[in-house]
Formats: sequence, C-alpha cells, structure tokens
Amino acid sequence: MNIGKPHGWGFIGASDIARNAMIPAIRAQPHNFVKAVMSSNLERAKQYASETDIPVAYDSVAALLADPDIDIVYISTTNELHHSQTLAAAKAGKHVLCEKPLTMSIEAATEMVKACRDAGVVMGTNHHLRNAGAHRTMRRMIAEGKIGQPLAARVFHAVYLPPRLQGWRLHKPEAGGGVILDITVHDTDTLRFVLNDDVESVTAFSSQQGLASGAVEDTVMGVMRFRSGLLAQFHDAFTIKHAGTGFQVHGTEASLFAAGVMKPNPPGKVFLQHEDKMEEVDTGEHEDVYVVGVRNFVQAVEGHGSPSATGEDGLHSLAVALAARESARMGASVRVRYQ
Ligand code: NDP
Repeated sequence: MNIGKPHGWGFIGASDIARNAMIPAIRAQPHNFVKAVMSSNLERAKQYASETDIPVAYDSVAALLADPDIDIVYISTTNELHHSQTLAAAKAGKHVLCEKPLTMSIEAATEMVKACRDAGVVMGTNHHLRNAGAHRTMRRMIAEGKIGQPLAARVFHAVYLPPRLQGWRLHKPEAGGGVILDITVHDTDTLRFVLNDDVESVTAFSSQQGLASGAVEDTVMGVMRFRSGLLAQFHDAFTIKHAGTGFQVHGTEASLFAAGVMKPNPPGKVFLQHEDKMEEVDTGEHEDVYVVGVRNFVQAVEGHGSPSATGEDGLHSLAVALAARESARMGASVRVRYQ
C-alpha cells in the first residue's frame, strides 16, 4: 500500500456504533473515506447510506468485498457474524478493524487472527478505551514505578443500557448478547493495557436485574487474578443509572483513582494519592478515543506501528470474558484458556 493513497472503508453492518462513532472518526482522518455500507436488508442499507452520506449500499458481504475502492473493512455486525466476515475479508485482501468481542469462541478468534496474518492484512480490535489519555497516562505512570508494585485494581463499569440499544444484547445469546461479552471484554483490555499484565483466572457472579431475558446476564461482578498476583475487582451492568464509572490501581507506594474514565466522553479525571496528598494527574489534551484508534489503524495499514489493539488483544479479552461467563455459570473459579 502506498502512503498517501486514499483509503476506502467498507462497513459490514449498518450499526449504531458505526453511525455515532466510527463514521466521524474515519472522516476526521485525511485521505480516508467511507465508500460503502452493507446490511442484510438492501432497503435498510440504502436508507442508512443516504442518512450518513455514504455513496454505496450493498446487501451482501461478497458484493462489498468485490468493490476495488475498498481496502479496509470495519465489521460491526452482531457478534456471531464477525468470524465468517473477517475470514471473507482477509481472503479478499482487505484490512480488518473488527468490533469486540471478536467472536464467540477462542477457536474462532484464533482462526480470525491467523487468517489475517496469513493474508498479510492488518487486523485490529476496536477496544477504544486504550486510546484515552487517562488510561495511557496510568499505564505510563505504573511502568515508571510511580505507585510502586501494583497489588490491586478496581473497575466500575456498571451503566444503564440506552433504550435504543435494548435489543439483541439483552435477549439473544446466539448473537453474543450479555454484559460479559459486551463490557467485561473492555474492562479486561483496559486492565491488561494499563497494568501490562495478563489474567490467569477469574471468579464471577452474574445476575438478571430486570432488563435481560433467557440465558443472558445483565450484570456481573467478579475478581480476576493476574499473573503478577494482582487481584482486580470488576462490576459491569446494563442496569445501573447513577453509579458513574471508575478505575483504580493500588500499589505499594501510591494509588491511582480515576473517575468517569470507562465511558468515551467526557474524558474523566485521574488522581494520584501518595501518603496524605491527593493530586490531579495531567492526562494531556483530550482527543476522541475512536479518532485515535482509527488513526493508529490507518498508520499500521501504511506500515507504521500496529493498531491500538491488535487481533491478538481481542483474542485475549474474549478469552477472559468467556472464562468469566463460565465461572458465573458454574459457580467456580475458572483458569483462562487462551488457545
Ligand atoms: P446495532 O444493533 O446497531 O447493529 C448490529 C446489527 O443489527 C447491524 O449489523 C444490523 O444488521 C442490525 N440492525 C441494526 N439496526 C437495525 C434496525 N433498525 N433494524 C433491523 N436491523 C438492525 O449494534 P451496535 O452498534 O450496538 O453494536 C455492533 C457491534 O459493535 C457489536 O459487536 C458491539 O459489541 C460493538 N460495539 C462496540 C463499541 C465500542 O465502543 N467498541 C460500542 C458499541 C458496540 P444489518 O447489518 O444486517 O443491517
């Protein structure tokens, strides 16, 4: 791929997240344009394309992948479709930015990562929270030893699922519904990124608190044990209106308290508590996390660096979420299986 050549994006999935976050993020990059959108329903694809100023609407993945102007696909269909769509895109030589969770099993995620690697295309997972100044700053401070040895973390990510999204996430296990595949994957990715550590095992309890039905949970709490011995508590929900979000890391010398940082906007704040002093940490100028993610992805396509979160990162976060779900179902601690 020549640097400077415009990048045409094809959207597989006429989704809410594509409309609200990814179209603006792609249009914020120079030399990038959204060429086409694909929906299983042509009328819906056309309607979506006209509402969002996308020039072409397709009703099949094959037709979109045959479009020579498209060199990058962004996959944001429901989760059970990501696997086959990624394999098809890799086979067609398109770079793939795939939504989380990558898919529904470790085997399928491994196959996706391998297919992209074998085809020589870049694969990224859209874990947007790594791009936040708050999380990048906490990662740097921990790596610099500012809090000593990290011993414990807490992630508060219990939110209220907006009514417009109260569909497959709450009622369709076969589409990868449930708060664990939706939100625990993001917690895991953010913890891995900030701590530079991996989860070894998980214990979780899940529940239905009035929104989800059938074999789908709408709330989960649990503990992850990392390889270093650090323990991390997490609370994820679709049912809580006023808890706010947060992320804390407690080390031998100091603690980091971050408030409002598990939602993309506004950016939230980070504080360092050291002995009896609590000071606000400068996390840099706020930039939209999706814009940063798309920029890093495009740079990787152009041969510079790697996506903010790679396919392998998506595999890791999925592995932990699947272990958490199994733990909640079995009532036992589960060791994470990464392959
Ligand atoms: P949506 O529910 O908006 O879209 C998912 C699919 O549902 C679409 O592909 C579409 O099918 C179908 N659909 C959407 N709207 C309609 C409608 N009005 N009528 C009929 N069918 C419809 O999904 P989300 O945007 O909430 O999530 C998509 C993916 O993105 C998921 O994998 C999710 O986990 C991920 N996500 C990631 C976020 C992040 O920050 N990284 C945030 C939000 C979601 P078709 O394509 O056939 O038209």
